Amino acid sequence: MILFDPSALLDFPRYGIQIPALDSRKIRTIEFLRSHPQLSGREREWLHEGFDDTTEPEHLFRVHSRDYAQGFFDEQAADRLKAAFELVNPDGTYNRWNPQSAENPLEELIPSLMKMEAGTWRTGKIALDEGFCHYMGGGAHHGHRDFGHGFCPVNDVAVAIRRLQNEGAVNRVWIIDVDAHKGDGTAAIFRDDDSVRTLSIHMASGWPLDGSLPPSHPSWTPSDIDIPVESGEEQFYLSRLSEGLDRLADSSGPDMAFVLAGVDPWEGDILPSTHLLNLSMEQMIERDRLVYQFLEAQSLPSAWVTAGGYGEDSWRIHSAFLEWVLLRRLT
Ligand SMILES: [Zn+2]
Repeated sequence: MILFDPSALLDFPRYGIQIPALDSRKIRTIEFLRSHPQLSGREREWLHEGFDDTTEPEHLFRVHSRDYAQGFFDEQAADRLKAAFELVNPDGTYNRWNPQSAENPLEELIPSLMKMEAGTWRTGKIALDEGFCHYMGGGAHHGHRDFGHGFCPVNDVAVAIRRLQNEGAVNRVWIIDVDAHKGDGTAAIFRDDDSVRTLSIHMASGWPLDGSLPPSHPSWTPSDIDIPVESGEEQFYLSRLSEGLDRLADSSGPDMAFVLAGVDPWEGDILPSTHLLNLSMEQMIERDRLVYQFLEAQSLPSAWVTAGGYGEDSWRIHSAFLEWVLLRRLT
């Protein structure tokens, strides 16, 4: 039900990257669940620990342009990562990056990145078998066909869906994206594809919709169901999400759903670009339960990924939701 592999974590500090996307978000969630009085000792029932999968260029080619994807496997790898993780400013200075503090050069992050991405596909496979799987990783929804931004080099959910479709495991899929930021890469990748329906509820005017990108930029591509939330409208968030899910239910039945359960809409998130949406802890937990119960009512297998979440405390949201899910499913 939960997929976790320490070797699929990105360990940003090792590469001098100072983005506050901390591996502790995943590690502490697993520690919390392992030490839970009703879950401890029952790990065999709820934890898939470790997997051997990786992402090959051919998997990326189904989503990303050949030139862009191939660059991760040749001498352009470091440049691909610098661009996607936004490590270099236009004036050449560094942004959330201190190469002098790095233990390893940037390009050595690629094997972990490709393993992390493959975990999303593995999560989809487990979800199809077990009905539900939550991966402690994944959700790089700002990955576009031929570029990455917003800390997202490649779009793992899109790659996973194409891989599952190619294997004949699924035909139609829903993507429910409740991260604070709009799922722009996902919307653009599946824009003309009726087999994948996308829903994104996000900050109405936060990055990438903050006006910093020109109107022709693919980040403005609408999702099938876009739910923009203006700053100060938090009290309407859950009802609008519920209405959006009802609209999704009117579309033809899929084989499964992917959920990008980013925890950056939480008021405790520390990334400045999330501060236009400030849901309380209670609203966050209610949000995840709403999506879970919606999919349960549809009898749909669901694969959940962690997506965005920044700072020392964001593990608390995942932990609260997963505690609830596991106790619900195991008892
Ligand atoms: Zn986000």
